[in-house]
Amino acid sequence: MILYILVVLIPTLAITGWAAWRVKSTYAKWSKVDSGINMDAFDFARRLLDKQGLSHVRIEPTPGTLTDHYDPRGKILRVSTQVADASALSTAGVTTSAPRLSVAAAAVIAHEVGHALQDERKEPMMALRQAIVPAAQFGSGIAPWLIIAGVFLQVTGLAIVGLIGFGAAVLFTFATLPVEIGASGKALAFVNGLGMVGDKQTGARDVLKAAAWTYVAGALTALLTFLYYAWLIFGRRD
Ligand SMILES: [Zn+2]
Repeated sequence: MILYILVVLIPTLAITGWAAWRVKSTYAKWSKVDSGINMDAFDFARRLLDKQGLSHVRIEPTPGTLTDHYDPRGKILRVSTQVADASALSTAGVTTSAPRLSVAAAAVIAHEVGHALQDERKEPMMALRQAIVPAAQFGSGIAPWLIIAGVFLQVTGLAIVGLIGFGAAVLFTFATLPVEIGASGKALAFVNGLGMVGDKQTGARDVLKAAAWTYVAGALTALLTFLYYAWLIFGRRD
């Protein structure tokens, strides 16, 4: 238990806490800066999608903060209400007649369009990641319970089945990294092509980099947990 707290729990909380704080503060900073793109969030998403030949991809609002995502099964790009509202940039009492898109909102939307393009091009890492989804869901849901039950009941076979399942969940978090970084690379090219250069491009890069660190944190904590489970099953000889 002490080992779990020292080796898994504390590092996990530290890494994920740091990544979450970084995303929040970077997003807050750049959501106050005008991208110079004279569109609201939905028009901007539509424009980018159409430009990439993705006019079949639909756009929907979705509630929450940083919940923006692309759904490859439904071919839907979901824009969070936070990003959509932020597109109505409110700079201390100044109300503009035209909708203004913040640097942060533009970066997030462009990133999701990057995922839509990865899906359209059937990029191999995206396809691999999608293929692991069912195993990963099993791995992060039931597998830890199989491991714990197997260890306590001393049924090693059961614990190993659980460990393999959890391994799929770990693999998923690592397959996510190149997909996320690839989408951000595309996003930067998109916003650059729309005139977001200099400081604004730096801002977009900062927002996307901070978001990428949350996925790195997720992969690291999944790996730590996996190693701890493996030690529970194979390492303890008491
Ligand atoms: Zn993404």
